[in-house]
Amino acid sequence: MSEIPFLLIILDGLGDHSYTELKDRTPLEAANQKNISKIKSLGAQGLMDPIAPGVPPSSDTAHLQILGYDLTTEYFGRGPIEAIGEGIELEEGEIAFRADFGTAKVEDNKAIVVDRRAGRIPTEETRQLVELLNKEARFIDGYEFKVVGLTEHRAAVIVRGEDLSYEVTDNDPHNVNVPVLECQVREEAKEKEKAKRLAELMNKWTIKTMKILEEAKLNEIRKKEGKLPANVVLFRGAGIMKKLPTFYEKHGLKAAGIAGGALYKGVAKAVGMALIEVQGANGMPDTNIKGKFDAAKKALSSYDFVFLHLKATDYYSHKGDPIGKSEFISKFDSNLSILEELFKDIAIMVTGDHTTPCDRGLHSGEPVPVLVSAPSIRRDGTKIFSEREASVGSLGRIKGSDVMKIVLDMVERTVEFGTRPSPRLITYMPLELKPLRIS
Ligand code: ZN
Ligand code: ZN
Repeated sequence: MSEIPFLLIILDGLGDHSYTELKDRTPLEAANQKNISKIKSLGAQGLMDPIAPGVPPSSDTAHLQILGYDLTTEYFGRGPIEAIGEGIELEEGEIAFRADFGTAKVEDNKAIVVDRRAGRIPTEETRQLVELLNKEARFIDGYEFKVVGLTEHRAAVIVRGEDLSYEVTDNDPHNVNVPVLECQVREEAKEKEKAKRLAELMNKWTIKTMKILEEAKLNEIRKKEGKLPANVVLFRGAGIMKKLPTFYEKHGLKAAGIAGGALYKGVAKAVGMALIEVQGANGMPDTNIKGKFDAAKKALSSYDFVFLHLKATDYYSHKGDPIGKSEFISKFDSNLSILEELFKDIAIMVTGDHTTPCDRGLHSGEPVPVLVSAPSIRRDGTKIFSEREASVGSLGRIKGSDVMKIVLDMVERTVEFGTRPSPRLITYMPLELKPLRIS
């Protein structure tokens, strides 16, 4: 086991632009950095392109890339990751989508999206509709459809059956005043026939469920009360449940994950990390941030690698609120004091999974600042942790796929390139060495 435990802190969507309301500073630059600066004094900073320069990552792809997974061969879609993060058990080979109950009106033989959240329908009402769909639209052409209600308008759709490929498009147009889309085969699909089968099934299912929802008693009541009916299920992020090599198998580090948002819990589970549940951790600004830091501190005594995720930075970015984002980073900084006594003995990385500039309200392809510290590491002379200072920091400009190599080096677990202590080509000292038997 590694002598130096590693703490990876991801502030979702951390990177940003500067704003006049923050006196021409970024939210990170304007935040309190009392404890961040203590980490800063023990290490260095730089910029990271999570996937590649100019490519805005989704959170799940950025996380998998940073954790050392190959997105071209090991990414199986967002739907199953979010579903397992919500605690839904998926069997290998099952197809899953993330879905939202929305409102649409029929015009000209098309369903025009009016609201993508059905007026933020409450959880209990979504559950009633889910039950209805699971009864009346459970099977189409022998394939089984299972809807699982999550919080408010959110849900997951699971499809079971033979010979399906997840390589299909969303029916969710990701906007309002545009039509619900036909689910189609992706142009680059490897299994076109199987994908065509799923696309056809999804289209039949969408039409069938729209009819059932339109006639649902609950929606009649909602309309009478002047509320938006939840009359369409908008799905996206098709994926197939696949077993990935575990984080431990890949990097030789025993890992634990701490997160509030389902997607991030799902990422931790998908790579076989131990998931540490913290009461009140919800991926929102009012998350139990102290509880998460307490849990991280404890986990650092029994795991080699602890992944701590905070979502609210990205939440404020999407809302276009740089002041809120900056205040949340200050709150993060003050909670870092919980770990202060460990700063000198552990290796730390603080970064984001992508840049989400508040003025765009969307993920951008700009790099994110990365701060690192470790007991034995080159230190740089940069002052505060920031997008601007990071551009002159000694870590330079790295890629998401470099992170785990840097991690293993920071915890002093690497072997020199070209040496082969194990049959498997790995970059770290193998955990089990095979001794030569003398007699
Ligand atoms: Zn993210
Ligand atoms: Zn985001």
